[in-house]
Amino acid sequence: MEVILRNFPNALDSKNKKIKLRILYHRELQLKLSGVSRSINTITNSSSVFLRVLRGFLILNIILFYSCSKTEPSRTETAFGTACTITLYEHGSTGIYNEIFSKIHQIDNLMSINILSSDVSRINNNAGIEPVQVHEETFKVIERAVYYAGLSDGAFDPTVGPLVNLWGIGKGNRNIPSQNEIDKTLTLINWSNIELDPKTNSVFLTQSGMSLDLGAIAKGYAADAAAQIIKEAGIKRALINLGGDVYVLGEKPDKIPWKIGIQHPYEERNVTIGYVQLQKDKALVTSGVYERFFIRNEIRYHHIFNPSNGYPADNNLLSVTIIAQTAMNADALSTAVFVLGYEKGMELIKNIPDAEAMFVFKDRSIRTTSGVNFTLTDNTFTFKN
Ligand code: AMP
Ligand code: MG
Repeated sequence: MEVILRNFPNALDSKNKKIKLRILYHRELQLKLSGVSRSINTITNSSSVFLRVLRGFLILNIILFYSCSKTEPSRTETAFGTACTITLYEHGSTGIYNEIFSKIHQIDNLMSINILSSDVSRINNNAGIEPVQVHEETFKVIERAVYYAGLSDGAFDPTVGPLVNLWGIGKGNRNIPSQNEIDKTLTLINWSNIELDPKTNSVFLTQSGMSLDLGAIAKGYAADAAAQIIKEAGIKRALINLGGDVYVLGEKPDKIPWKIGIQHPYEERNVTIGYVQLQKDKALVTSGVYERFFIRNEIRYHHIFNPSNGYPADNNLLSVTIIAQTAMNADALSTAVFVLGYEKGMELIKNIPDAEAMFVFKDRSIRTTSGVNFTLTDNTFTFKN
């Protein structure tokens, strides 16, 4: 929305004396208002101008008031290379949507590997050269990524950048690398070679050729940041969906649980195999083989890598969904648990309070932890709890 000041130098008062008249008007409404402003310009030359100008001014203010309080039920924009949709079930003004999306874009601009000026690109370009001072939010997310790397014994590793580049999955240059290339690349993947200095918010990758990739955690952080803005605005009910990183804020009217569909791993977007019911203030994030992949000789090569062997993680899993208090935790854990596989993943989840998991296996069976309220709707899958 852009409100601009407009001068009317020929405005006259009721005694035909020139008056200074400046009117605020709304550029988006220029078309609609052109009739009003034209009539203002015309009547400024007539004798009973003051009252008529005043009337025009009042009409203008009513339209302005209406437009400023315009509500939007939902908005979708592209960030993190995916569709991000926010649905505010109350007080969804244009202003609050602008605020939420500018935060989401800010986080993308700081943490994306695909944006040259991002903090993460600057860290990567200085790998083996010098520490790079970053925005406190980037620092916080990297700290958290390192925490999850330790917790998962390196199954989650934010230094997977060189592997992501080597395989080029989702980038067009699809490529099954040679074992030699994979072995060479693996020497660069090691989260313990990230040096963090909290005093200066500086990050240093100790080996040249290393690169950070926050693709498994940054969207979750952005979903939490969006939820924070929404809560601070006093909005009680909202649905945040950043390309599958979902956060449900508040309760639906009459306390009906939220139903979040679980993506069918082999079908198009938005075809689901069932849904999970959530009460309130929960995040649900899925890591799956369907997100970015290519198929060669009937083998699916997807975007979640096992840092211990350099190949897409293969644990007989098609997807892992994590439900947690924050989207950042759910995002990091879904990737970590996908790489760890069912047994080790379950061990990890059991030790994390408030985290629940759902596993979809290649044989089309589904298992969940005890706190997941899942309803299967596709009977080509079997729910084995
Ligand atoms: P997600 O879809 O949240 O599981 O994140 C997958 C993205 O995270 C990939 O596109 C990579 O950019 C990055 N990634 C892949 N494998 C790993 C891993 N083992 N640890 C951390 N990040 C990874
Ligand atoms: Mg993730």
